[in-house]
Amino acid sequence: MGIVIFREVVNMLNERTHISKAIEKIGEKVTIYGWIEDKRIVGGVAFLTVRDPSGLIQVTIKKDMNRELFMKASAIPRQSVVKIGGLVRQFGSKVEIIPNFIHVLSIAKHPLPIDPTGRTEASIHKLLQNRPLSLRIPEINAIFRLRAITKQVIREFFINKGFVEVDTPKIIATATEGGANLFEVNYFGKPAYLAQSPQLYKEQLTMGFDGVFEIAQFYRAEKSHTRRHLTEFTSVDLEVAFADYNDIMNILEEMIKYIFTEVPRRGHKELNILNYTPPPPPDTIPRITYNEAIEIIREGGVDIKWGSDIDGEALEVLAEKHPGFYYIIDWPWDSKPFYIMRKGDLSESFDLMLGRLELSSGGTREHRYDHLRRNIKEKNLNVESFEYHTRFYKFGMPPHAGFGLGLDRLMTILTGRENIREVVLYPRDPETITP
Ligand code: ATP
Ligand code: MG
Repeated sequence: MGIVIFREVVNMLNERTHISKAIEKIGEKVTIYGWIEDKRIVGGVAFLTVRDPSGLIQVTIKKDMNRELFMKASAIPRQSVVKIGGLVRQFGSKVEIIPNFIHVLSIAKHPLPIDPTGRTEASIHKLLQNRPLSLRIPEINAIFRLRAITKQVIREFFINKGFVEVDTPKIIATATEGGANLFEVNYFGKPAYLAQSPQLYKEQLTMGFDGVFEIAQFYRAEKSHTRRHLTEFTSVDLEVAFADYNDIMNILEEMIKYIFTEVPRRGHKELNILNYTPPPPPDTIPRITYNEAIEIIREGGVDIKWGSDIDGEALEVLAEKHPGFYYIIDWPWDSKPFYIMRKGDLSESFDLMLGRLELSSGGTREHRYDHLRRNIKEKNLNVESFEYHTRFYKFGMPPHAGFGLGLDRLMTILTGRENIREVVLYPRDPETITP
């Protein structure tokens, strides 16, 4: 049977009542817009469950009250988009709508590629291939609301501190940190690259602002097949003038406390849907030196060479001792990029960890022209090719420090998800670019 598809000409936003509000309007007439999530015909009664992003409501049509509407409702495929007008009434413990009209605005063709009610579980691969449809699954929808809340909380934290939000370019002419892991793009026949971080730009900007921050996507051509790496990820970056790494660790600690207090408060509805409680805000974040970490690891029976990165088994041992937030500070200079402040064999640097997950890296930066050039040479990079950047260090560069924090990794912690792909709308990894 043919279903007439309506084309709205009225102002939909004006007349729409969200379902979460409609259920409070007992005895009133409302117009709702949403999707038919479920449909049951029991005897002579059609029960439609209609969902919008705010909630669910039942719509009840009795055949003997309105035969035409009953027939129409019975024929609408699940997940079609409808506009329904009617009276809200209390029925036992339930609230329902007795409609006087149902307009179909868009038909859903079956079978759907995934079950948007989430009752039939789909693989992450399937969900990602059908991302927009997957957003109708309440848990998945809640993840992305929490992500938006988190970004707002972070932005607010920085703005309250007086930092200025900036936008650095994502197409760059030269390799920022030495060239590895860069995606090359064809820029009108010449090679250019996708930025892997805002590092050098944000440092330059401390010439003009007390503090700058950016929340943006960056690109790394790493063939990492883990649940914490993507080739396109969102970084929360801060750079502050007249600060060193201790100041920055204090700010980051304050920010972590703010996030782990404010996101659960503002996102309690979403966390309820996820049935998840994020870790509580830490009282203080302990600062363990790299040397102390190496000792802990060796005491734990894992052989580790001084100077090497802490991962695998070594990290396991460390995380067992420190399951919560902690900083690893004073990394060997050899393991850090040229712009980090050197301190003998060590550097004024830190990683913020949560158990075995690295959330952020930061440090004091080298702000002295000669030292910076020397560092570049020591890292076997070409000093001249960095002159476009280092030359500003001749004209009054303030001491500065900062951090970069992975928003996607943070979101896995805030939502209790294992895989970074679950907290990114359209994740890109070395194997897949979802359409
Ligand atoms: P890792 O050692 O885990 O690969 P990294 O030390 O190379 O990370 P940094 O350059 O220190 O990463 O970047 C700062 C932060 O940005 C990291 O602590 C992490 O949270 C996030 N990050 C870096 N690379 C990625 C990526 N490929 N995917 C997701 N997040 C990332
Ligand atoms: Mg790092």
